[in-house]
Amino acid sequence: MKYILVSGGVISGIGKGVIASSTGLLLKTIGLKVSAIKVDPYMNIDAGTMAPTEHGEVFVLDDGGEVDLDLGNYERYLNVTLSKDNNITTGKIYQHVIERERRGDYLGKTVQIVPHLTSAIQDWVERVARIPVDDTNEEPDVCIIELGGTVGDIESAPFIEAMRQLRRRVGKDNFLQIHVSLVPIVGGEQKTKPTQQAIRDVRFAGLSPDLIACRCSRALEKATTDKIAMFCQVEPEQVVGVHDVASTYHVPLLLEKQGLVSLMRDILKLDGISIPQSLIARGQDTWRQWRALTTSQERIFETVTIALVGKYVSLHDSYLSVIKSLEHSAMACRKKLNLVWVDSSHLEKATSTSNPELYHKAWHEVCTADGILVPGGFGHRGTEGMVAAANWARTKPKPYLGICLGMQIAVIEFARNVCGIADAGSIELDANTPDPVVKYMPEIDKVNLGGTMRLGLRPTIFQPDTEWSKLRSLYGLEHTSIDERHRHRYEVNPDYIDRLEKAGLNFIGKDDRGERMEIIELKNHPWYVGVQFHPEYLSRVLAPSKPYLGFVAASAGMLDEIVQQMRSQESELADGISRVAI
Ligand code: GLN
Repeated sequence: MKYILVSGGVISGIGKGVIASSTGLLLKTIGLKVSAIKVDPYMNIDAGTMAPTEHGEVFVLDDGGEVDLDLGNYERYLNVTLSKDNNITTGKIYQHVIERERRGDYLGKTVQIVPHLTSAIQDWVERVARIPVDDTNEEPDVCIIELGGTVGDIESAPFIEAMRQLRRRVGKDNFLQIHVSLVPIVGGEQKTKPTQQAIRDVRFAGLSPDLIACRCSRALEKATTDKIAMFCQVEPEQVVGVHDVASTYHVPLLLEKQGLVSLMRDILKLDGISIPQSLIARGQDTWRQWRALTTSQERIFETVTIALVGKYVSLHDSYLSVIKSLEHSAMACRKKLNLVWVDSSHLEKATSTSNPELYHKAWHEVCTADGILVPGGFGHRGTEGMVAAANWARTKPKPYLGICLGMQIAVIEFARNVCGIADAGSIELDANTPDPVVKYMPEIDKVNLGGTMRLGLRPTIFQPDTEWSKLRSLYGLEHTSIDERHRHRYEVNPDYIDRLEKAGLNFIGKDDRGERMEIIELKNHPWYVGVQFHPEYLSRVLAPSKPYLGFVAASAGMLDEIVQQMRSQESELADGISRVAI
């Protein structure tokens, strides 16, 4: 097993996750099997209890793990399925060591950060790295370990020490470190001092990076590279520039151009690994498709405008997978995505008096968009604005996609304005609502909030007589059931289903017991779909999530064309022409 540690210096939030994922992708293109682990040095057991505006989107895995959004990047770039153990947090590792202490595993010993916690971290990494993550079902060859935060933070100290020890444990031919640093430009000049300092910090901790990846707004000048190499005691080839590019999909290309693959080959002695011919061919195919897709993107000029009406719009990372799914879908439609962010509370009546400018601007954005998306969310703030946006989309009619909360909102809007249940609401938004069309799921824990929602991969069964459904035509009529990832506490109240259905709201997908409403869709509308699950977690660049694809295609006025295209792709597949999903 080869390990690649991706650590950070200077500041966080400069794209370490994308560099880690891109490095993994490059290894896959030479046929290697790659897994990834993210270390988050915070005390939370998982990301599930954090507000998205705090730390970005909570990503959900098949096994129901609520994890850091970087795991989403790994799954998308590496086309793998990870488990909750692929995300280590301070909380998780302490809990693990403390449980062992209580069991008596360390009987007679004083349990310490070094060696007990640091050994536990290494054991965890070695165990998880070996879990198969792709369709080969074999042990991976390489595991990328991304360390959150920056070296020098108090929180990350035990993990840094564990990585120092891991390098000794596995041997230097099996361990490579990429340190991601920042080269700011001041007065037009690329400044290397912060990088020099960052390298000093990481060496002081006993580690010695093999590669220094320098984030910079412009391409690194030769003089900058030479200066970093000289002051940091490395060869110029070990300094890699990662400047701002048109999209994150370009980063693997940028790294490849600078010889990252051959550097990794040399340092990690990758030629010693025997790679089956089939994986080499598949890797080359992936690389060809990745390059073609990235460069063809540069020649797309027609746009499709989507209004994302949400409550966490102050931090765009809050909706990372949603944005990615829209991007994947826009690419499939050969359109440039023009995403407009609308704070749903700005659409509410109260804003029209308190801040009319914001109110009018928000409504202008909704009214001029080609499609309206209401994503997942929690709590009352901004939900009346979402109901108003759903109403606009339904009646105009404009394509609408409601994800999780967005589906519940569409049901509330329909109940109020079509069924005439004037005070229809959700227990989550108003505990005393007289007509709770959305209610708390009976089996969900009301006391403990960590990891207790209805989580992870679960089946949705398409109901009889729903062959007319536009969404079904994209999933393919031959599929009577689909699996998607979930994360919710509330559900559409079964007591109201009859009334809603009679008034024309179709529940085309339900859970395997027929009790839980999973998909709504309106007939005679260009695209009005709500899903209780989060399809964005399974979207891939070359295999966009179907609810998103249909929504973007309908917004671009090309749904029929895309459905046709999907059908012919499927028959190509049946004819044995393979496509690799990346
Ligand atoms: N708050 C809603 C629920 O718990 C929706 C959750 C979500 O959008 N992820 O059911």
